[in-house]
Amino acid sequence: MDSTISPAKPASSRAKLGGPEISIVIPVYNEAANLPLLFERLTRVVDGLGRPTEVLFTDDGSKDNSLALLKGFVERRPDIIKVIEFDRNYGQHMAVMAGFETAQGDIIVTLDADLQNPPEEIPKLIAEMDKGHDVVGSYRHQRQDSWLRRWPSLILNRIREKITRIEMRDQGCMLRAYRHDIVRMIVESNESSTFIPALAHYYSTNPTEVEVAHAARHAGSSNYNLYQLIRLNFDLMTGFSLVPLQVFTIFGMGVSGLSLLLVCYLFLRRIFLGPEAQGIFTLFAIVFLLLGVVITGLGIVGEYIGRIYIQVRQRGRFRIRAVHQKTGN
Ligand code: UDP
Ligand code: MG
Repeated sequence: MDSTISPAKPASSRAKLGGPEISIVIPVYNEAANLPLLFERLTRVVDGLGRPTEVLFTDDGSKDNSLALLKGFVERRPDIIKVIEFDRNYGQHMAVMAGFETAQGDIIVTLDADLQNPPEEIPKLIAEMDKGHDVVGSYRHQRQDSWLRRWPSLILNRIREKITRIEMRDQGCMLRAYRHDIVRMIVESNESSTFIPALAHYYSTNPTEVEVAHAARHAGSSNYNLYQLIRLNFDLMTGFSLVPLQVFTIFGMGVSGLSLLLVCYLFLRRIFLGPEAQGIFTLFAIVFLLLGVVITGLGIVGEYIGRIYIQVRQRGRFRIRAVHQKTGN
């Protein structure tokens, strides 16, 4: 691993040190059905780049034979492929993070293993990086996912845009390129639950976005269910914004103000018109509504506290069981 921080090192000088100029980081979880085709297409793209490149796969505790396939790739292309093996499943972002820790290239590209992002788009990202951008994001041209997968993302994209002020057209698209120093900052930020594209945008001073093609999953189904999608978005929102907490404080203050008026009104009414017994169910309805609001608020506070708790424990984010590569690579 490259242990020195070398932010301003240009591509050429890194390459002169004998290291790769470009690193491609790919998280893999149960993708056995996609890997052979990915290997074919990716190696063709890498060979066409004509620049020293490494490909880092992270096997995120796959239960199918993804790992065996990946080890086979190392045998076939020892010059470019390395495989990081996790001891269990830690999630897509941690798998990417492990690749980031190892990546030596000046330009680091992330790609999904399911062929939803065509590897053939990588040169387009690199061309943008060569223009001097430090982060190149992407948005999907005609996203090919089911409606049920698309609309929650659409809504969450909008909310995230509003409250985190991170300008990303398409937070879900992982085909992205980062400058080495941005990746170092991401790795060193040591956050246990994080959303890599958002963190990169946060650190970036000169980002841009390009449109990329998007295909339906080549095989298998998305590893994210609705629950995980919600969790991921909580990570994104709590990680980059205090707005949910502030909204609650402001809402609480508003409700307190209104309640105070109501109490004054009822007090005066009692003095001048006598006690009131009707309207008890309306009162219940209001109380239950507010109770619901209070519980939601507590939940939001809990989300932040939970993350603070995870962070202060400082446990390792993931454990690497082995790194498969040919020596001298
Ligand atoms: N992935 C992973 N660990 C996980 C879930 C997913 O490494 O726990 C990988 C997966 O193999 C794929 C990428 O992350 O390469 C994106 O996953 P998926 O296609 O399931 O997500 P979606 O495209 O639905 O957002
Ligand atoms: Mg996918």
